[in-house]
Amino acid sequence: MNKLTIRDLDLKGKRVFIRVDFNVPINDGKVEDDTRIRASLPTIQYATERGGRVILASHLGRPKGQRVDKYSLRPVAEHLSGLLGKQAQFVDDCIGPEVKARVDALKEGDVLLLENLRFHPEEEKNDDKFAAELATLCDLYVNDAFGAAHRAHASTAGITKHVERAAAGLLMEKELDYLGRVINNPEHPFVAILGGAKVSDKIPVINALIDRKVDRLLIGGAMAYTFFKAEGFTTGKSLVENEMLQTALEIKRRAQEAQVQLLLPTDHQVVDSYEPVKGEAVVSKTIPIEFTNAGQVGLDIGVETAAHFREALRDAQTIIWNGPMGYFEEKPFDQGTIAIAQAVAEAADRGATVVVGGGDSVAAITEAGVADRITHISTGGGATLEFLSGDELPGVAALNDR
Ligand code: AMP
Repeated sequence: MNKLTIRDLDLKGKRVFIRVDFNVPINDGKVEDDTRIRASLPTIQYATERGGRVILASHLGRPKGQRVDKYSLRPVAEHLSGLLGKQAQFVDDCIGPEVKARVDALKEGDVLLLENLRFHPEEEKNDDKFAAELATLCDLYVNDAFGAAHRAHASTAGITKHVERAAAGLLMEKELDYLGRVINNPEHPFVAILGGAKVSDKIPVINALIDRKVDRLLIGGAMAYTFFKAEGFTTGKSLVENEMLQTALEIKRRAQEAQVQLLLPTDHQVVDSYEPVKGEAVVSKTIPIEFTNAGQVGLDIGVETAAHFREALRDAQTIIWNGPMGYFEEKPFDQGTIAIAQAVAEAADRGATVVVGGGDSVAAITEAGVADRITHISTGGGATLEFLSGDELPGVAALNDR
């Protein structure tokens, strides 16, 4: 990596501002999933162990520039204290005299979490005055928020102009390292699995993967129906992006020209009418794609498709997966996604490099109980897709070069 990292900095006695991604689900004042908090622990501990006076800053949710109680980071400070085994202090703003006083009082190894950056509208506007104010809190800046690095906000981009040194944290470095290796130097066969609802979100990444000579592209989830409809199949009431039909055909043509094998489902789980009622059994059946009638809704890949996809992963040396294979939030439509989670874990067991990104696929990996077998689970959703599309992330570009 050509950027400074926290390991290049002398932290002792310094006020170290670490931008983290603590955008975690909170329910009734309790952190429900602390994956993102845990992911930044190595960076925080690295700084405290070396005598840094640590200031943590993050966004949480979309409070739209206002103070909204349910988006307070206070519960995160409590949770973090448990993980660190020592108190993480909290202050209920991120700028101003009170915050400055609390920062000044920090001793070496202390940790202070600031309140949600997005309580100030200036954060998302990348307002220079606000960025400069954040910068007055610190001597050194570290960005560990890979999940927010595709946004040019005050705490991810603007602030770097006002600090002595801006470096990547350990999580940021790890993310860039794994994702960079996958996209720039993959071992072949290189297989990408894409799913989820929208083709439109994934066009840049699909194009980049084709350009980088991915060997196989496996497409599942509702995305596949846009391809089927473009080819003239009946897709019933399945989700289709009608304005993407031409694009789907164009992707097929590009893949063919580049000799990339494009695999779409051959069968799927359908229901005749669908009203999602949580907890109620839904009657579904597996049918070949071409048997779909006008009233049916496709909600998951079928067992034959799962077997085909698993077969396509058998000799893969590099695998990247983003997006669920079906409407996986509702049982039994999680089965296809779980089958893929198991298949990629098996590939990792026999030595393939497996990188999984995006909240839904990561949730499926956890649900399937295979998380510890995956080479790298990315904490980014949008950031992962943008990075894999070949774009330089603003939050990374803003860091100092080596
Ligand atoms: P995306 O944001 O494009 O990655 O899409 C993720 C969402 O797609 C998840 O909430 C899935 O439930 C949904 N999804 C995937 N496949 C289907 C499908 N066949 N029908 C309805 N929703 C789907």
